[in-house]
Amino acid sequence: MIQPDDTSAGEGFNPYPDLHTDHYFMGEALRQARKALQKEEVPVGAVIVREGQIIARSWNQVETLKDATAHAEMLALTQAESVVEDWRLTDCDLYVTKEPCPMCAGAIVHCRIRRVIFGCPDAKGGAAGGFINLLQMPNLNHRSEVTPGVMGAECLELLQAFFSERRGAASQNKKPAH
Ligand SMILES: [Zn+2]
Repeated sequence: MIQPDDTSAGEGFNPYPDLHTDHYFMGEALRQARKALQKEEVPVGAVIVREGQIIARSWNQVETLKDATAHAEMLALTQAESVVEDWRLTDCDLYVTKEPCPMCAGAIVHCRIRRVIFGCPDAKGGAAGGFINLLQMPNLNHRSEVTPGVMGAECLELLQAFFSERRGAASQNKKPAH
């Protein structure tokens, strides 16, 4: 029998959330982000996990759907709600390659997501502690646990690739600015 205070449980003891699980699911979110890149969307991907299973996966589709609210997290939340058949996602964790914006953070709190795991931080627009922390506001009726920086370098690399390619294309076209 392993007692809760028995530190010899170390090896093979796999507490949840653990680093390997987070890396695995962030890898899946990155696969979604790469799909966005292929479609010339800002490469952000998200998956939602419930009881160790992915129940929703999506990538940013603002241009494809011509919808400013079609961020990866928003689309994944809607998918997860329909899978669970409930707007309460209290036993679900959301993995996203970039720190959520204020819109998505607001939706995440409304859906009562248990945990948010993100890749690269966004000091300018991030609402999970970057410039504001809407996921852990003391006065709101739900707060999500936050794990930042999981595979952050890979997530950032994808975004940088996208933006440097866009800058290159823009300087070649030399279109006058509106
Ligand atoms: Zn967002």
